[in-house]
Amino acid sequence: MTKGEEVSNKQVVFRDYVHGPLKETDMVLSTSTTHLKVPQDSKAILVKNIYLACDPRTKILLIEPGLAIRGFGVAKVLDSDHPDFKEGDFVWGITTWEEYSLIKTPESLFKIHNTDVPLSYYTGILGMPGLSAYAGFFELCSPKKGEYVFVSSAYGGVGQIVGQFAKLMGCYVVGSAGSDDKVNLLKNKFRFDEAFNYKKEHDLAAALKRYFPDGIDIYFENVGGKMLDAVLLNMRHHGRIAACGMISQFNLEQHEGVHNLFNLISKRIRMEGFVVHDHYHLYPKFLDFTLQYIKEGKLVYTEDIIEGLEKGPSALIRLFAGQTVGKPVIRVSHE
Ligand code: NAP
Repeated sequence: MTKGEEVSNKQVVFRDYVHGPLKETDMVLSTSTTHLKVPQDSKAILVKNIYLACDPRTKILLIEPGLAIRGFGVAKVLDSDHPDFKEGDFVWGITTWEEYSLIKTPESLFKIHNTDVPLSYYTGILGMPGLSAYAGFFELCSPKKGEYVFVSSAYGGVGQIVGQFAKLMGCYVVGSAGSDDKVNLLKNKFRFDEAFNYKKEHDLAAALKRYFPDGIDIYFENVGGKMLDAVLLNMRHHGRIAACGMISQFNLEQHEGVHNLFNLISKRIRMEGFVVHDHYHLYPKFLDFTLQYIKEGKLVYTEDIIEGLEKGPSALIRLFAGQTVGKPVIRVSHE
């Protein structure tokens, strides 16, 4: 592989705009060609994609049918016309589901300086999901030692990190997940105090009452819908809710209503939504904090590494179906 060479470039594209639940057949593998050289005076960089993240938001990042899917990933710079990047640098940020990408605005990427942890971690615990967990939990929820914390989709890329941050803060932490295996791992691997399988509970409010007889101080919201309604009934006075995501509503034509909002008033609850991009300035602080705990073995992380770009569509479908155990990451190439 030499600079300027024309190479084939496998891509995953959406066939059309997606309405309703995402299906594997909405995505297709195609092949184009690309020159391994950045146009002069373009300020662009050309990268080889190494890892691509399967995130629930991948569907939202659909820009135009026929173009490669956009999403978070880790990549190696092959050529650069940008003063801040050079050949051989590793970066993470928004890229495209293909082997080689020309990135026209590399300023939006983060350079990876710490390579003594797996590079794939920059799609998860050290990347966008990790920063979402950090910003949502610490900035929005102001946790205090001994508080009662509930995390939904607790085995997800964001949830497993929130729960461990909460344990590091000395909180009591309960998570919900969609299988008994995930529940066991939450308790035994991630050191959650308790966890339950929400699919086996016919009354979510009663389940929460069982785990939080004195109520919930902090709810880290990943799913929305019926779970949010049940949580509102179980919140304590002056509780905080960080609204990170509502995956249960993602594929519905008509979103479910929320019935127990009056609790926000009577219990003086603060519920606040956030978008991780607004918190990118926290990245250096977050990285120092998280790396230290990973190296000390006080933060653990699970990934499901899927070999090959062509397996990306099925991995994304399995993510929405709750069939992935650990953050699904597609390995496109080797470092
Ligand atoms: P995730 O939680 O790993 O999402 C996948 C999991 O969601 C599945 O494995 C499944 O787990 C669960 N799920 C799927 N359908 C569900 C349903 N109908 N009801 C309840 N759970 C369901 O994803 P993530 O990357 O860690 O992100 C967590 C949430 O935060 C997502 O909603 C995402 O969109 C959002 N997010 C927001 C921001 C932001 O800036 N605000 C940034 C990152 C992520 P089970 O087996 O447990 O059901």
